[in-house]
Amino acid sequence: MAQFSIDLHAHTTASDGTHSPTGLVRRAADRNVRVLGIADHDTVGGLAEAMAAGKQAGVEIVPGVEFSLRHEYDKDFVGIHLLGYFIEPESPVLVEVMEEVKQGRVDQKLKQIEKLTSFGFVVPVDEVFARASGVPGRPHIAAVLMEHNPGRFENIQQIFDEYLGTHAKAHVGRSFALTLAEATELIKQAGGLPVFAHPGAYDADIDPIFALRQAKAEGVEGVEVYYPYQKGHRPAGNTGSWIGRIEAVARELDLLPTGGTDFHGRDHDAVDLGDMGLTGKQYTRLVEGWQCLRERGSSNFKENKKQNPYI
Ligand SMILES: [Zn+2]
Ligand SMILES: [Zn+2]
Repeated sequence: MAQFSIDLHAHTTASDGTHSPTGLVRRAADRNVRVLGIADHDTVGGLAEAMAAGKQAGVEIVPGVEFSLRHEYDKDFVGIHLLGYFIEPESPVLVEVMEEVKQGRVDQKLKQIEKLTSFGFVVPVDEVFARASGVPGRPHIAAVLMEHNPGRFENIQQIFDEYLGTHAKAHVGRSFALTLAEATELIKQAGGLPVFAHPGAYDADIDPIFALRQAKAEGVEGVEVYYPYQKGHRPAGNTGSWIGRIEAVARELDLLPTGGTDFHGRDHDAVDLGDMGLTGKQYTRLVEGWQCLRERGSSNFKENKKQNPYI
C-alpha cells in the first residue's frame, strides 16, 4: 500500500519506463494511488492509452510531459527538466513541436549507433528501434550492443562509462531541444502548468536555487518539491534537507508545489508508485492554484479554452 494516494511523476514505455501505460495504471490502482501523473520524457505518446486505462481502473490521470531542455549556462539551466501538467495532448501546437523533438531524438540515436559502428561494434539499427515503443533510448542501444558483441562488456554500466555516458566516446548531443522559455510557453499554450522538476537532482555544479529563481522569472509556475532524492544515487543527497529548502523557496517565490516518485519501474529503483507524492489537501491546492492562474492567465490559456477539458 502506497504512502501517498497522489503521485504526479511516473514514466511509461513511451519513454524510458519499463511499464506500458496500461501496466503502470494497473500498478497504481493496486497500490491505491488514485491520482497518477504521467510525465514521459519529451513525448505525450503514452497519454491516450493511460487515460483510457485510468477510466477503467478508477485512477485519475494527470496528463503530463517532461522536457529535457537546451543548456543555458548563464542561467544555470544545464540538464534541467521541465514538467508540464494538465496539458491537452492533442493541442496542435504541442503535437507539432513534439514531432520536431522526436525527429531530433531519432537523429541523435542514429548518430550514436553510427559512432559505435565506427568503433567496430555490431549494432543493428532495426533491432534498437524494435526494442522501444517510441524513440529508443541509450539503454536500448546498450542492450543491443551487449547482445551482439559478446564478451566485450561485463555489464550495461560499462557501456555507459566507456561509450554512451555524457562524456564518453560515442556520446552525441541532441540536435533539437527547447529552451526553458520556449518549453514554458509551449506548455501554457497547450493549457498546461509548467513545473521545474526535482531541483535537488542535477549535477552538483549548477545552483538549483539560482536556476529556480531564473525559471520563475521566465514564467515557470510550479516546482517539484516532494521528490525521493535518495533514489538513483544523486550527488544532491539527503531527501529531507532538499525538500525543506525547496519548500521554503517555493513559498518565497509563490510557486505551486508538486510531487511524485519519478517511477521508471527499473529493478534498481528504490521507490514504487506512491512512495512519494502529495496529500489530498496539497493536490486540491495545486488544482485550485492552477485554476486561479488560468483565470488571470495569458491570452494563450484563453485561446486553448475550447480544446482543454481542464480549462
Ligand atoms: Zn527528470
Ligand atoms: Zn522523470
